[in-house]
Amino acid sequence: MGLPKKGNSGNSTDRYSIATLGSHSALQILHGAKQEGFHTIAICEKGREKPYRLFRVADEIITIQSFSELPKIAGELNKRNAILIPHGTYTGVMTQEQIEKLNVPYFGNRKILRWEYDRTMQRDWLKKAGLRLPKIFRKPEEIDRPAIIKFYGAHGGKGFFLAKTASEFREKMKGKEGKPYIIQEYIVGAPIYAHYFHSPLNNEVEIMSFDKRYESNVDSIGRIAAKDQLDMGLNTSYNITGNVPLAIRESLLPEVIEMGEAVVKASKTLEKHGMIGPFSLETIITPELKFYVFEISARIVAGTNFFISASPYADLRYGENMSTGRRIAREIKNAIETGRLNTVLR
Ligand code: AMP
Repeated sequence: MGLPKKGNSGNSTDRYSIATLGSHSALQILHGAKQEGFHTIAICEKGREKPYRLFRVADEIITIQSFSELPKIAGELNKRNAILIPHGTYTGVMTQEQIEKLNVPYFGNRKILRWEYDRTMQRDWLKKAGLRLPKIFRKPEEIDRPAIIKFYGAHGGKGFFLAKTASEFREKMKGKEGKPYIIQEYIVGAPIYAHYFHSPLNNEVEIMSFDKRYESNVDSIGRIAAKDQLDMGLNTSYNITGNVPLAIRESLLPEVIEMGEAVVKASKTLEKHGMIGPFSLETIITPELKFYVFEISARIVAGTNFFISASPYADLRYGENMSTGRRIAREIKNAIETGRLNTVLR
């Protein structure tokens, strides 16, 4: 697959387009790309174009019936010298094979995404990085404490449930048989999501921002008295509805930075070129201030959406409105200007 062709104009970005699927963190990605001077393309499912028009982030909208048809418009994208920016929707609508075969230049390392999708591989990666992880129960009979049951893929916590025993597991699993899942120890503490950016151009792991999630119904269940919760027979669910910004206790920052660096170092042993660009560690911090990492996202996460006008950390580092979306575009721009585009498009 060829790299986008270079233009002859004075501006390094104006002959390239930045394209992404209209969903997840596309507003931020396209807005950031425009800030850096790129032509922007929102690829939308029919009927879902409105936000991209309303917020003026897309110079162009390409409508398809379903995101899974993305490979069909590869030619159109290549005609526009487009670079695709992956986000959480890609892994939801395309298989790893389709992502790897897609004949369009793509920001980041497309091979690393399979280490995110498969929860067992994800765990191997995090273990290699030396991080503290919740215990895994290999079969339901091993459950001896509160556990959370998770399905594969990025579905925003949909369908996850809690179980304390094997019989409770079997009861709640009814209707979900056949779906790949893992059973993980449930850690009680404060969930904090750390957003990083690894630049292969300057070989640095940056902290972009932090968030916590707003999940239904777990984040609203406390509005109902415990007795009513029991009377209503409520089950906790973790379906994500939004993200809340956070500044982390400053004394925890050194460990957060080291965790990010360890993840990048480990990624290079898993796939040639390793982790490129944004990624996120999903952690729970216990009352003893121990970090448990329960998941990694190997691409931009929607928790960065709040920070279009920069987070305190991006502000410290850049002194300008540097969202993660804009940071991606800046990396591509830096790569174009230094003749190293192939270092960031794998
Ligand atoms: P995930 O899809 O892995 O991000 O999980 C969805 C939500 O489930 C998280 O945002 C947390 O609220 C919760 N969660 C996941 N794993 C754990 C765990 N091991 N202990 C406690 N809460 C968890």
